[in-house]
Amino acid sequence: MKSKTAVFRADLHVHTCCSFDSLAAPKDVLAAAVKKGLSAIAITDHNEIAGALEAAEIARKKKLPLQVIMGEEVSTDRGDLLVYFLKKRIAPGSLERVLSEVKAQNAVCSAAHPYDKIRHGIQLENLKPSLLEKIDAIEAFNARVTIPSHNARALEFAQKHGKAVFAGSDAHHPLEVGAAAVEFAGIRRLDRKSLVLASRVIKAKLSSPLVHFLSRYAVLRKKIRRAKKSS
Ligand SMILES: [Zn+2]
Repeated sequence: MKSKTAVFRADLHVHTCCSFDSLAAPKDVLAAAVKKGLSAIAITDHNEIAGALEAAEIARKKKLPLQVIMGEEVSTDRGDLLVYFLKKRIAPGSLERVLSEVKAQNAVCSAAHPYDKIRHGIQLENLKPSLLEKIDAIEAFNARVTIPSHNARALEFAQKHGKAVFAGSDAHHPLEVGAAAVEFAGIRRLDRKSLVLASRVIKAKLSSPLVHFLSRYAVLRKKIRRAKKSS
C-alpha cells in the first residue's frame, strides 16, 4: 500500500485507439502505465471520451493500482484544449463555447502543446484576457514537441501568468506512456483541486521524433480499414 508521502506521478496526456491517429488499445495503455509505476493517467483522446470510459472501467474491474482521469483533447478554433474530470464529451468548436462547457461541468483545462502550430497549439499571447483567465493550466512539457523551445516558451508563459504547469507524454503508442509526468507530493488520489496546484514536472524527456511515424502509421491503417469496410 502506498503511504501518504509517496510520490504520485501522473501522465496527463495519453491517447488510445479512440483517437483517429492511435491504434493503442486501452488495456495495453493501462498495462504500460502500471509497468512504468505511474499513479495516474489522463486519457485525452481527440474529441472523444469512449476510450477514457473504457480504460476507467477496465481499471476498476481489474482493481489496477492506477487512477484513470476522464479527459478529452478538444479541437477549438484557437487550438487544442485538454480537459480533465469532465462528465460528458465536449464537442469541438469555438474556444469560447468549449471553455464555458468546461466551467459548466466543473472540469479543469489546459492549453495543449501551446505554440506548436503544426499540432494546433493555442497561441497564448493572442488570446483575449477573458478567455485566458478561464484556462487553468498550461502544458509546459509535451514529450512529442518537435521543437523543444515550444516547451520552454510554454513554461515561461505559465510562470508569468501564474498558471499550473502540466506535463504529458501525448502517447499515441503504449511505448510512449510515462515519457513525461507531473509529480505530486502528499496525495493518494488526484482531484480537481490538487490538479490545478500542479507546478512541478519530473521524469520528463522528449520522445524520439520517430514516434510521429507511429501516429502516421495509425492514421494510414485506419484509412485502409475504412476503405476495406466500404468496398
Ligand atoms: Zn494529444
